[in-house]
Amino acid sequence: EIAGMDAASLTPVMRQYFAAKQQYPDCLMFCRIGDFYELFYDDAILVARELQLTLTARDREKKQPMCGVPYHAAEIYLQRLLRKGYRIALCEQMEDPKTVKTIVRREVTRVLTPGTSLDPSLSPEQSNYLASIAMIGTGNTAKAGLALLDLSTGEFRATEFSGASAWAAAIDELGRIRPVELVHASGLFGPASGGLLTAKNGNAESSEDSAGLEYIRTRTPVEEWVFTGDYALPLLTGHLHVHSLDGIGMGGHESAAIASGALIHYMRATKQGALEHIDGIRYYERSTCLELDSVSVRNLELVDPLFSGESVQTTLFHTLEACSTPMGKRLLRATLLRPSNELAEINARLDAVAEATADLRKREGLRRSMDGVLDLERLLGRVALDSAGPREVMSLAATLGCLPGVALADKAFESARWRELAAALDPLEDLHYAIVKTLADEPPITFADGGVIRAGVDAELDELRELSRSGRQALITIEERERQRTGIGSLKVRFNSVFGYYLEVTKANAKSVPADYERKQTLVNAERFTTPELKDYETKILTAQERSGEIERRIFAELRAELLANAGRIRETARRIAEIDMLGCFAHLAALRGWTRPLIEDSGVLEFVQARHPVVERRMEESGSRRFVPNSVHLDADAGPAVLLITGPNMGGKSTYLRQTALLVIMAQCGCFVPAERMTLGLVDRIYTRIGASDNVARGRSTFMVEMTETAAILNTATARSLVLLDEMGRGTATYDGLSLAWATVEHLHDRIGARTLFATHYHELTMLSEQLVRLRNLRVTVKETPSGIVFLHSVEAGPASKSYGIEVAKLAGLPAAVISRARDVLKVHERVESSALRPAQAKEQMQMTMFTPLSQRIVDRLGEVDVDEMTPREALNLLADLQREL
Ligand code: ADP
Repeated sequence: EIAGMDAASLTPVMRQYFAAKQQYPDCLMFCRIGDFYELFYDDAILVARELQLTLTARDREKKQPMCGVPYHAAEIYLQRLLRKGYRIALCEQMEDPKTVKTIVRREVTRVLTPGTSLDPSLSPEQSNYLASIAMIGTGNTAKAGLALLDLSTGEFRATEFSGASAWAAAIDELGRIRPVELVHASGLFGPASGGLLTAKNGNAESSEDSAGLEYIRTRTPVEEWVFTGDYALPLLTGHLHVHSLDGIGMGGHESAAIASGALIHYMRATKQGALEHIDGIRYYERSTCLELDSVSVRNLELVDPLFSGESVQTTLFHTLEACSTPMGKRLLRATLLRPSNELAEINARLDAVAEATADLRKREGLRRSMDGVLDLERLLGRVALDSAGPREVMSLAATLGCLPGVALADKAFESARWRELAAALDPLEDLHYAIVKTLADEPPITFADGGVIRAGVDAELDELRELSRSGRQALITIEERERQRTGIGSLKVRFNSVFGYYLEVTKANAKSVPADYERKQTLVNAERFTTPELKDYETKILTAQERSGEIERRIFAELRAELLANAGRIRETARRIAEIDMLGCFAHLAALRGWTRPLIEDSGVLEFVQARHPVVERRMEESGSRRFVPNSVHLDADAGPAVLLITGPNMGGKSTYLRQTALLVIMAQCGCFVPAERMTLGLVDRIYTRIGASDNVARGRSTFMVEMTETAAILNTATARSLVLLDEMGRGTATYDGLSLAWATVEHLHDRIGARTLFATHYHELTMLSEQLVRLRNLRVTVKETPSGIVFLHSVEAGPASKSYGIEVAKLAGLPAAVISRARDVLKVHERVESSALRPAQAKEQMQMTMFTPLSQRIVDRLGEVDVDEMTPREALNLLADLQREL
């Protein structure tokens, strides 16, 4: 019994359908029937809704809902479903319906999922990552392994996190990479429900919390045993043809290797082909790079705008993107997410950029040499997935043809990195030659009409082509001869795919046709005939064409195999081109915008002179509005000021100043020049940001809770080499709670961590910390007070803001005059109370406790301390007098 029906009562097709659906229960089953893909039952209802298709039924009682899409137009429907996160199984007809008498055999030939299918609308700089996560052990011995695969380029890498925070670290790493699909063991998040999109989270005790993964629309549970060492490790080593994990740099990283093996399993289970282009894996560690958590990547708008749907022009990536090739764009994007933390590497890049910045002619030569370079990695990916036609292979050749020119342009430079790149760049001349000597100069898109393979490649092919050419020539001769013989001037020899070759004569002339003509077809105003001679030529020509088609395909397949056998070399070259391109891009920007080389060292210094925010400055230039006001920063975590406390009115430029500092550090550690007169940077190991509202609020967590969680992460993990940016901390709660928390946080950062810290705040009271914390400096964003209101100058100077400008800013915003003047009165009262509370002579400890405690609170506290029952009337009176004196 299936779906409430007696199996025996099902039609054979439906029985096939249920068998397939049982095998792939969590996929939308696209079942090929004739010229359509049909969907049934719940799949049909869901797809009809998602794609706005008409829902019909197979039976009169409407118990079997169905809908369909035409086979030829299926691609766009499939892509739309994939973009929505669904998994799809294609159940194809395995036999030609014309040749079988009984029912056609049907089988699932391929499973499409967001992470395994190539979306044609994917832009060159985007990656399409399929990820998998493996957890082994618990508590301090826990390991979380991640594997990432971009099928479109063949990029395959893995990493691992250990200890009690392994899971959180893995989630965070995923947050930076933002895969489109995540494969995991079915029990990882508790009992799986096997839904179409994701497994629902259960409450099993060993299960992990999936919070933070909500953005991954497709989470794919697979059987638990896939994620075991016994199964996954041999699968991985087998696929990569190595004997042990050490051979691929994964020794001792078992969880990473299990996650990688599980991906290989998944690719096989979804029938993605032989995957020749995935011939290596790279183990990477986050510690060799400047660590950026996912919150910072978002807040700083490194690659995506803060709110999806906003213009990409606000991103650092957009501002820096001047690469010539898709590989360069992708590398730039990846580099911004993982800037280097190694002095030698950064300096080698900066040397190379400096040299190219200084020489316009060589730089332009280099950039021009890459003009014709297409997406090597993706072209290779398409060849491997057998979706590259003759034209694509030819454009691969065109790209390979540019490589010697790139190598030559690179060799014009002398610095070490350029030399290394030039030496390591394999120009792949043999592969270029292999393609151009095999394919015709401008091959057709498909094999249908022949002409893919160049003449002279295969003797038999040339002969067959000659045969069909002379055959066609003979037909022309026949046409000429028959016209003369019959006297019918309009007689024609023609061809169509149903009737083959025929002689066509108009109705009016049909009576003049000789007796040896054999009638084939009668049309409204013409008759078609054939002759034994014509049939003879037809057979010759058609067999020649068929045979030459076979030969062309065979030769093309051999060429494809040769290219795939060299996939590793092609990918290596693509990597070199990407780096050459990115360095060229940095040099281009430096020269164009007058950026300077940062001085990188191993110290606690962070010093910018006259620095600008690259994105804001650029946008201001483009809109022709005011000029960006440059600002400076001076920090030295080892010997100088470590904490900068920035006060001033809202809209004054505090948060721009903070962001600019982080962006310049990131650019410098990527090897890029920076928009500043001068910059000295002691390597930063990690950037922490707590800036503005985050989208967690929309997910139902309160602003305050999010803020405190992020702050906790900073205080628990920042080191003396980190850069910490805190903007408007403590806003989400009552004033005095917020102020107290901000106060204690600054103290902790100053005393315990010693990280370079920029702290922007509207709590004016915090500026007093400079009396107590020797390594804290007050800075303020300046404003000019004019009779008509305040003007923001956006320049940052030493010293605390002279006062709070909230009311002035509110006035600028257009609050009614009556409200403004009433607010001024209220403020005055408050200020008087506060100033009497701050007695300068008080002990330091006590001052910290009381400087921002309102008076009423202290009276309440005093009263709370005494036990009235135990007091004499005299004591009570004294207390009263005391309290009065406090006022
Ligand atoms: P705050 O964080 O103090 O509220 P923001 O940093 O958000 O202020 O800046 C407010 C506005 O001032 C922004 O629109 C920004 O473009 C502009 N701005 C900030 N810094 C500068 C600067 N150095 N030069 C010119 N304009 C600036």
